[in-house]
Amino acid sequence: MAVSNIAGNSTAKRVLLHTATEGKHGTAFIFSGEENSGKNFAALQFAKVLNCLSPKADGDCCDGCDNCRLLDKTLGMLDEQGGQQYPHPDIKYVNTEKSQISKELVREAVSEINAFRGVQLKKKILIINDAERMNAPAANSILKIVEEPNQNVVFMLVVNNTEEMLPTILSRCRRIDLRRASPADMRKALQASRPDWDAVQIGEAVEFSSGRIGDALRYKEIKEEMRDAASIFMAVSGRQDNVEAIFEAVKHVEELYKREKEREKKAKKTGIARIFLLDIIRILSYIYRDYMLEKTGIKTALRPRYGISLSDVRNYAPGKIISILRLLERSGADVEANANVGVVFSNLLFQIRKEGLNI
Ligand SMILES: [Zn+2]
Repeated sequence: MAVSNIAGNSTAKRVLLHTATEGKHGTAFIFSGEENSGKNFAALQFAKVLNCLSPKADGDCCDGCDNCRLLDKTLGMLDEQGGQQYPHPDIKYVNTEKSQISKELVREAVSEINAFRGVQLKKKILIINDAERMNAPAANSILKIVEEPNQNVVFMLVVNNTEEMLPTILSRCRRIDLRRASPADMRKALQASRPDWDAVQIGEAVEFSSGRIGDALRYKEIKEEMRDAASIFMAVSGRQDNVEAIFEAVKHVEELYKREKEREKKAKKTGIARIFLLDIIRILSYIYRDYMLEKTGIKTALRPRYGISLSDVRNYAPGKIISILRLLERSGADVEANANVGVVFSNLLFQIRKEGLNI
């Protein structure tokens, strides 16, 4: 993989290649963008570009030399907790399961990376993942580093939300913003990084992820959530009118949410449970869109994707589906705003059912 394999984001790619070839690049960078937009991948490719032993004419890395391979191994093959599993004196990847990144953790990483002269790389690499989680003392110690940089070390902060960063840090770093990619760019990126996926899987992943490459790549893991969403869909839109089934569906979502909350606590990460609910809502809206497409004869998608058959589902007029999609969109916004999950889902599911009864 190389900078050219970043999905979409032609501006960011141009900036990265130009920065690397101009020689006088700075030493501090911020890779920012929403969750799963491919920030760590971009940071890794940039580290390779800075260190490649036989770069291409456009400045991109060769992806095959010793340095490219070393960076792929140390930064691309992380352990289950997302930490660095192959230590190397030239490369330090900071990732913690704790909710905050402490000053001690930052200091330790900086002193380790500064302790030796480069062993192999042209530029040593220090990356701090989820850098917005740095507490105030950690952020202040970072500020010192970007103010008095070590020219042999390139320092990269990977950040979901730049609003939580100190403005003094932001202003001293070169910013690379990663945005959502178009369906065509996503398809291209998936064909390169998931060669074992067939066209149907790639198409589903593209549709599911709405331009976020990280979501597309984890599409296979999301299959279980697709089953949950399909059973919720059947409870509210199946031909059999059954109020109990809707109560059951709400209870089921609440239980799954609790399970995700537990996972969140264990992993000391925030957002897992919220992302799970947003996934469910998003998949529900895909199911209703597919239902409409299948009903109008444009494509057959319900059975192969969700195991549902058109004949099992209530007959909705297209206008009803549009109202349901709006309901889903509003519920997604409520979940984003941290509203009570049980209330959001029981409102949502009973309103969808109501749409179905008013044909
Ligand atoms: Zn190379």
